Amino acid sequence: MTAFDLGRKVFVAGHRGLVGSAVVRALHAQGARPPIVKGRNELDLADQAAVDDFFSNERPDYVFLCAAHVGGIQANASFPAEFIRNNLAIQTNVIHSAWKHGVSKLLFLGSSCIYPKFAAQPIREDALLTGALEATNEAYAIAKIAGLAMCQAYRRQYGFDAIVPMPTNLYGPGDNYDADGSHVVAGLIRRFVSAVQTGDREVVVWGTGTPLREFLYVDDLADALIHLMHHYESDEPINVGTGQELSIDELARRIAAACGFTGTVTFDASRPDGTPRKRLDTSKLDAMGWRARTDLDTGLRRTVAAYRQLLE
Ligand code: GDP
Repeated sequence: MTAFDLGRKVFVAGHRGLVGSAVVRALHAQGARPPIVKGRNELDLADQAAVDDFFSNERPDYVFLCAAHVGGIQANASFPAEFIRNNLAIQTNVIHSAWKHGVSKLLFLGSSCIYPKFAAQPIREDALLTGALEATNEAYAIAKIAGLAMCQAYRRQYGFDAIVPMPTNLYGPGDNYDADGSHVVAGLIRRFVSAVQTGDREVVVWGTGTPLREFLYVDDLADALIHLMHHYESDEPINVGTGQELSIDELARRIAAACGFTGTVTFDASRPDGTPRKRLDTSKLDAMGWRARTDLDTGLRRTVAAYRQLLE
Protein backbone atom coordinates (compact mmCIF):
# COMPACT_ATOMS: atom_id res chain seq x y z
CA MET A 1 0.00 0.00 0.00
CA THR A 2 1.34 3.45 -0.98
CA ALA A 3 1.33 5.51 2.23
CA PHE A 4 -0.61 8.78 1.93
CA ASP A 5 1.61 11.35 3.62
CA LEU A 6 -0.07 14.65 4.54
CA GLY A 7 3.34 16.34 4.61
CA ARG A 8 3.94 15.77 0.89
CA LYS A 9 2.66 17.62 -2.19
CA VAL A 10 -1.04 17.21 -2.93
CA PHE A 11 -2.75 18.62 -6.02
CA VAL A 12 -6.50 19.19 -5.68
CA ALA A 13 -7.94 19.53 -9.19
CA GLY A 14 -11.26 21.36 -9.07
CA HIS A 15 -10.67 23.18 -5.77
CA ARG A 16 -13.42 25.74 -6.44
CA GLY A 17 -16.10 23.09 -6.89
CA LEU A 18 -18.34 21.49 -4.28
CA VAL A 19 -16.09 18.47 -3.69
CA GLY A 20 -12.67 20.03 -4.31
CA SER A 21 -13.32 22.89 -1.89
CA ALA A 22 -14.40 20.39 0.78
CA VAL A 23 -11.24 18.33 0.20
CA VAL A 24 -9.12 21.48 0.68
CA ARG A 25 -11.01 22.20 3.95
CA ALA A 26 -10.54 18.64 5.17
CA LEU A 27 -6.81 18.57 4.33
CA HIS A 28 -6.39 21.84 6.22
CA ALA A 29 -8.34 20.51 9.20
CA GLN A 30 -6.10 17.43 9.28
CA GLY A 31 -2.95 19.56 9.33
CA ALA A 32 -1.82 18.72 5.80
CA ARG A 33 0.63 20.87 3.90
CA PRO A 34 -1.44 23.39 1.86
CA PRO A 35 -2.36 21.65 -1.41
CA ILE A 36 -1.47 22.95 -4.87
CA VAL A 37 -4.54 24.50 -6.47
CA LYS A 38 -4.96 26.21 -9.83
CA GLY A 39 -7.77 28.45 -11.00
CA ARG A 40 -9.28 27.85 -14.43
CA ASN A 41 -7.52 30.97 -15.78
CA GLU A 42 -4.14 29.62 -14.63
CA LEU A 43 -4.53 26.02 -15.81
CA ASP A 44 -7.11 24.75 -18.29
CA LEU A 45 -7.40 21.06 -17.45
CA ALA A 46 -8.89 20.37 -20.88
CA ASP A 47 -5.61 21.56 -22.47
CA GLN A 48 -3.34 18.53 -22.70
CA ALA A 49 -0.04 20.41 -23.17
CA ALA A 50 -0.79 22.80 -20.30
CA VAL A 51 -1.66 19.91 -17.97
CA ASP A 52 1.49 18.04 -18.90
CA ASP A 53 3.65 21.13 -18.31
CA PHE A 54 1.99 21.64 -14.95
CA PHE A 55 2.76 18.08 -13.79
CA SER A 56 6.29 18.23 -15.18
CA ASN A 57 6.99 21.46 -13.26
CA GLU A 58 5.09 20.88 -10.02
CA ARG A 59 5.63 17.12 -9.57
CA PRO A 60 2.83 16.56 -7.04
CA ASP A 61 2.94 13.33 -5.03
CA TYR A 62 -0.83 12.85 -4.78
CA VAL A 63 -3.81 13.97 -6.83
CA PHE A 64 -7.47 14.41 -5.92
CA LEU A 65 -9.15 14.63 -9.33
CA CYS A 66 -12.36 16.42 -8.36
CA ALA A 67 -12.50 18.69 -11.41
CA ALA A 68 -15.40 17.84 -13.69
CA HIS A 69 -18.10 19.37 -15.79
CA VAL A 70 -21.12 18.70 -13.56
CA GLY A 71 -24.76 19.67 -13.36
CA GLY A 72 -28.24 18.59 -12.43
CA ILE A 73 -30.76 16.64 -14.44
CA GLN A 74 -31.76 19.58 -16.66
CA ALA A 75 -28.18 20.60 -17.56
CA ASN A 76 -27.19 16.99 -18.28
CA ALA A 77 -30.19 16.43 -20.51
CA SER A 78 -29.68 19.73 -22.40
CA PHE A 79 -25.90 19.77 -22.96
CA PRO A 80 -24.71 16.15 -23.36
CA ALA A 81 -21.98 17.14 -25.84
CA GLU A 82 -20.28 19.42 -23.33
CA PHE A 83 -20.63 16.87 -20.54
CA ILE A 84 -18.94 14.08 -22.51
CA ARG A 85 -16.28 16.22 -24.18
CA ASN A 86 -15.12 18.25 -21.19
CA ASN A 87 -15.09 15.32 -18.80
CA LEU A 88 -13.21 13.01 -21.16
CA ALA A 89 -10.65 15.74 -21.82
CA ILE A 90 -10.07 16.75 -18.18
CA GLN A 91 -9.79 13.24 -16.80
CA THR A 92 -7.69 11.86 -19.68
CA ASN A 93 -5.19 14.69 -19.40
CA VAL A 94 -4.89 14.59 -15.63
CA ILE A 95 -4.71 10.80 -15.22
CA HIS A 96 -2.15 10.37 -18.00
CA SER A 97 0.14 13.23 -16.92
CA ALA A 98 -0.11 12.24 -13.26
CA TRP A 99 1.09 8.74 -14.13
CA LYS A 100 3.76 10.02 -16.54
CA HIS A 101 5.25 12.41 -13.99
CA GLY A 102 5.44 9.99 -11.10
CA VAL A 103 2.40 10.71 -8.93
CA SER A 104 2.28 8.09 -6.14
CA LYS A 105 -1.50 7.89 -5.83
CA LEU A 106 -4.44 9.47 -7.65
CA LEU A 107 -8.07 9.57 -6.64
CA PHE A 108 -10.54 9.97 -9.51
CA LEU A 109 -14.00 10.95 -8.35
CA GLY A 110 -16.71 8.80 -9.92
CA SER A 111 -20.46 9.13 -9.54
CA SER A 112 -23.38 6.88 -8.66
CA CYS A 113 -25.00 7.71 -12.03
CA ILE A 114 -22.57 5.29 -13.70
CA TYR A 115 -24.73 2.39 -12.51
CA PRO A 116 -27.56 0.96 -14.63
CA LYS A 117 -30.90 2.74 -14.36
CA PHE A 118 -32.62 -0.36 -13.01
CA ALA A 119 -29.79 -1.81 -10.94
CA ALA A 120 -30.81 -4.03 -8.00
CA GLN A 121 -30.98 -1.97 -4.79
CA PRO A 122 -28.94 -1.22 -2.82
CA ILE A 123 -26.45 -0.89 -5.70
CA ARG A 124 -23.25 -2.88 -5.35
CA GLU A 125 -20.07 -1.92 -7.14
CA ASP A 126 -20.30 -5.01 -9.35
CA ALA A 127 -23.59 -3.76 -10.87
CA LEU A 128 -21.44 -1.63 -13.19
CA LEU A 129 -22.05 -2.27 -16.90
CA THR A 130 -24.79 -4.83 -16.25
CA GLY A 131 -27.61 -2.81 -17.83
CA ALA A 132 -28.69 0.32 -19.70
CA LEU A 133 -27.93 3.73 -18.19
CA GLU A 134 -30.39 6.48 -17.24
CA ALA A 135 -30.91 8.54 -20.42
CA THR A 136 -30.83 12.01 -18.82
CA ASN A 137 -27.19 11.72 -17.76
CA GLU A 138 -25.82 9.06 -20.09
CA ALA A 139 -23.08 11.28 -21.61
CA TYR A 140 -21.73 12.19 -18.17
CA ALA A 141 -21.96 8.59 -16.95
CA ILE A 142 -20.09 7.23 -19.98
CA ALA A 143 -17.29 9.77 -19.44
CA LYS A 144 -17.03 8.70 -15.79
CA ILE A 145 -17.03 5.02 -16.76
CA ALA A 146 -14.22 5.75 -19.24
CA GLY A 147 -12.27 7.45 -16.43
CA LEU A 148 -12.71 4.39 -14.22
CA ALA A 149 -11.62 2.11 -17.09
CA MET A 150 -8.57 4.30 -17.64
CA CYS A 151 -7.59 4.10 -13.96
CA GLN A 152 -8.00 0.32 -14.08
CA ALA A 153 -5.93 0.02 -17.27
CA TYR A 154 -3.13 2.20 -15.88
CA ARG A 155 -3.05 0.12 -12.72
CA ARG A 156 -2.97 -3.15 -14.68
CA GLN A 157 -0.39 -2.13 -17.27
CA TYR A 158 1.78 0.35 -15.34
CA GLY A 159 1.03 -0.42 -11.69
CA PHE A 160 -0.33 3.12 -11.25
CA ASP A 161 -2.14 3.45 -7.92
CA ALA A 162 -5.40 5.13 -9.00
CA ILE A 163 -8.56 4.66 -6.93
CA VAL A 164 -12.14 5.50 -7.87
CA PRO A 165 -14.74 6.26 -5.18
CA MET A 166 -18.36 6.47 -6.35
CA PRO A 167 -20.25 9.03 -4.27
CA THR A 168 -24.00 9.21 -4.03
CA ASN A 169 -25.81 12.56 -4.58
CA LEU A 170 -23.92 15.33 -2.80
CA TYR A 171 -24.87 18.63 -1.23
CA GLY A 172 -23.32 21.25 1.02
CA PRO A 173 -21.60 24.65 1.12
CA GLY A 174 -19.95 25.59 -2.17
CA ASP A 175 -22.63 24.02 -4.37
CA ASN A 176 -23.70 25.50 -7.69
CA TYR A 177 -26.95 27.44 -7.26
CA ASP A 178 -27.55 28.14 -10.94
CA ALA A 179 -31.33 28.01 -11.56
CA ASP A 180 -31.18 25.49 -14.43
CA GLY A 181 -27.81 23.83 -13.88
CA SER A 182 -27.94 22.91 -10.21
CA HIS A 183 -28.69 19.62 -8.52
CA VAL A 184 -31.87 19.18 -6.53
CA VAL A 185 -30.73 20.34 -3.06
CA ALA A 186 -29.14 23.57 -4.30
CA GLY A 187 -32.00 24.21 -6.74
CA LEU A 188 -34.62 23.85 -4.01
CA ILE A 189 -32.71 25.86 -1.40
CA ARG A 190 -32.54 28.69 -3.90
CA ARG A 191 -36.27 28.54 -4.59
CA PHE A 192 -37.41 28.16 -0.97
CA VAL A 193 -35.12 30.95 0.30
CA SER A 194 -36.32 33.20 -2.49
CA ALA A 195 -39.98 32.41 -1.69
CA VAL A 196 -39.41 33.28 1.98
CA GLN A 197 -37.82 36.58 0.96
CA THR A 198 -40.51 37.58 -1.54
CA GLY A 199 -43.46 36.18 0.43
CA ASP A 200 -44.41 33.69 -2.31
CA ARG A 201 -46.75 31.05 -0.87
CA GLU A 202 -46.01 28.34 -3.46
CA VAL A 203 -42.82 26.56 -4.53
CA VAL A 204 -42.75 24.20 -7.50
CA VAL A 205 -40.62 21.07 -7.32
CA TRP A 206 -39.62 19.31 -10.56
CA GLY A 207 -40.96 15.85 -11.38
CA THR A 208 -43.47 13.74 -9.47
CA GLY A 209 -41.72 13.82 -6.10
CA THR A 210 -41.60 10.00 -6.02
CA PRO A 211 -37.96 9.29 -7.04
CA LEU A 212 -35.82 8.11 -4.15
CA ARG A 213 -32.36 9.59 -3.58
CA GLU A 214 -29.61 9.37 -1.01
CA PHE A 215 -27.74 12.54 0.00
CA LEU A 216 -24.26 12.84 1.44
CA TYR A 217 -22.96 16.03 3.06
CA VAL A 218 -19.87 17.09 1.14
CA ASP A 219 -17.61 17.45 4.18
CA ASP A 220 -18.39 13.83 5.03
CA LEU A 221 -17.43 12.87 1.49
CA ALA A 222 -14.11 14.75 1.79
CA ASP A 223 -13.40 12.88 5.01
CA ALA A 224 -14.15 9.58 3.27
CA LEU A 225 -11.87 10.47 0.34
CA ILE A 226 -8.94 11.15 2.65
CA HIS A 227 -9.69 7.90 4.50
CA LEU A 228 -9.59 6.06 1.16
CA MET A 229 -6.32 7.73 0.17
CA HIS A 230 -4.86 6.30 3.37
CA HIS A 231 -6.43 2.86 3.33
CA TYR A 232 -7.75 1.82 -0.10
CA GLU A 233 -5.76 0.37 -2.95
CA SER A 234 -7.73 -1.54 -5.59
CA ASP A 235 -8.87 -1.33 -9.20
CA GLU A 236 -12.46 -1.85 -8.05
CA PRO A 237 -14.59 1.24 -7.54
CA ILE A 238 -15.88 1.83 -4.01
CA ASN A 239 -19.25 3.36 -3.13
CA VAL A 240 -19.51 6.28 -0.70
CA GLY A 241 -22.93 7.02 0.74
CA THR A 242 -25.09 7.06 3.82
CA GLY A 243 -27.25 4.02 3.05
CA GLN A 244 -30.33 6.17 3.75
CA GLU A 245 -32.74 7.36 1.10
CA LEU A 246 -35.82 9.53 0.95
CA SER A 247 -38.26 10.67 -1.70
CA ILE A 248 -37.85 14.01 -3.47
CA ASP A 249 -41.21 14.96 -1.93
CA GLU A 250 -39.86 14.34 1.59
CA LEU A 251 -36.59 16.07 0.73
CA ALA A 252 -38.50 19.15 -0.45
CA ARG A 253 -40.39 19.27 2.87
CA ARG A 254 -37.16 19.00 4.86
CA ILE A 255 -35.57 21.79 2.80
CA ALA A 256 -38.70 23.92 3.19
CA ALA A 257 -38.42 23.48 6.97
CA ALA A 258 -34.69 24.31 6.96
CA CYS A 259 -35.47 27.51 5.01
CA GLY A 260 -38.48 28.49 7.19
CA PHE A 261 -40.95 28.17 4.29
CA THR A 262 -44.50 27.46 5.45
CA GLY A 263 -46.41 27.70 2.15
CA THR A 264 -47.46 25.00 -0.33
CA VAL A 265 -45.19 22.63 -2.25
CA THR A 266 -46.46 21.55 -5.68
CA PHE A 267 -44.98 19.20 -8.29
CA ASP A 268 -44.39 19.82 -12.00
CA ALA A 269 -44.70 16.33 -13.48
CA SER A 270 -43.76 17.64 -16.94
CA ARG A 271 -40.15 17.79 -15.70
CA PRO A 272 -38.12 14.52 -15.80
CA ASP A 273 -37.80 12.35 -12.70
CA GLY A 274 -34.57 10.68 -13.82
CA THR A 275 -33.70 7.32 -12.37
CA PRO A 276 -36.38 6.04 -9.93
CA ARG A 277 -33.97 4.98 -7.22
CA LYS A 278 -30.21 4.75 -6.64
CA ARG A 279 -29.34 3.76 -3.12
CA LEU A 280 -25.74 2.65 -2.80
CA ASP A 281 -24.59 -0.50 -1.05
CA THR A 282 -21.77 0.78 1.15
CA SER A 283 -20.72 -2.58 2.67
CA LYS A 284 -17.18 -2.25 1.34
CA LEU A 285 -16.63 1.15 2.92
CA ASP A 286 -18.46 0.09 6.11
CA ALA A 287 -16.01 -2.78 6.46
CA MET A 288 -13.19 -0.23 6.39
CA GLY A 289 -14.68 1.44 9.47
CA TRP A 290 -15.90 4.65 7.83
CA ARG A 291 -19.35 6.20 8.46
CA ALA A 292 -20.98 9.49 7.45
CA ARG A 293 -21.44 11.73 10.50
CA THR A 294 -23.76 14.52 9.37
CA ASP A 295 -27.49 13.75 9.39
CA LEU A 296 -29.58 15.30 6.62
CA ASP A 297 -31.33 17.98 8.69
CA THR A 298 -28.05 19.20 10.19
CA GLY A 299 -26.39 19.23 6.78
CA LEU A 300 -29.33 21.11 5.25
CA ARG A 301 -29.30 23.73 8.02
CA ARG A 302 -25.59 24.36 7.45
CA THR A 303 -26.02 24.51 3.70
CA VAL A 304 -28.93 26.96 3.92
CA ALA A 305 -26.87 29.16 6.29
CA ALA A 306 -23.93 29.12 3.85
CA TYR A 307 -26.27 29.99 0.97
CA ARG A 308 -27.79 32.91 2.90
CA GLN A 309 -24.27 34.21 3.54
CA LEU A 310 -23.60 34.13 -0.19
CA LEU A 311 -26.64 36.35 -0.74
CA GLU A 312 -25.50 38.99 1.76
P1 GDP B 1 -30.09 13.09 -10.42
O1 GDP B 1 -29.99 12.34 -9.14
O2 GDP B 1 -28.97 12.82 -11.37
O3 GDP B 1 -31.44 12.90 -11.05
O4 GDP B 1 -29.86 14.63 -10.05
P2 GDP B 1 -30.71 15.90 -9.60
O5 GDP B 1 -30.20 16.31 -8.27
O6 GDP B 1 -30.63 16.92 -10.69
O7 GDP B 1 -32.24 15.46 -9.49
C1 GDP B 1 -32.71 14.60 -8.50
C2 GDP B 1 -34.25 14.53 -8.53
O8 GDP B 1 -34.78 15.75 -8.00
C3 GDP B 1 -34.87 14.37 -9.92
O9 GDP B 1 -35.97 13.49 -9.79
C4 GDP B 1 -35.37 15.77 -10.23
O10 GDP B 1 -36.44 15.80 -11.14
C5 GDP B 1 -35.80 16.25 -8.85
N1 GDP B 1 -35.89 17.71 -8.68
C6 GDP B 1 -36.93 18.37 -8.13
N2 GDP B 1 -36.73 19.71 -8.14
C7 GDP B 1 -35.51 19.90 -8.69
C8 GDP B 1 -34.73 21.06 -8.96
O11 GDP B 1 -35.12 22.20 -8.69
N3 GDP B 1 -33.51 20.86 -9.53
C9 GDP B 1 -33.04 19.61 -9.83
N4 GDP B 1 -31.81 19.48 -10.39
N5 GDP B 1 -33.76 18.50 -9.61
C10 GDP B 1 -34.98 18.64 -9.04
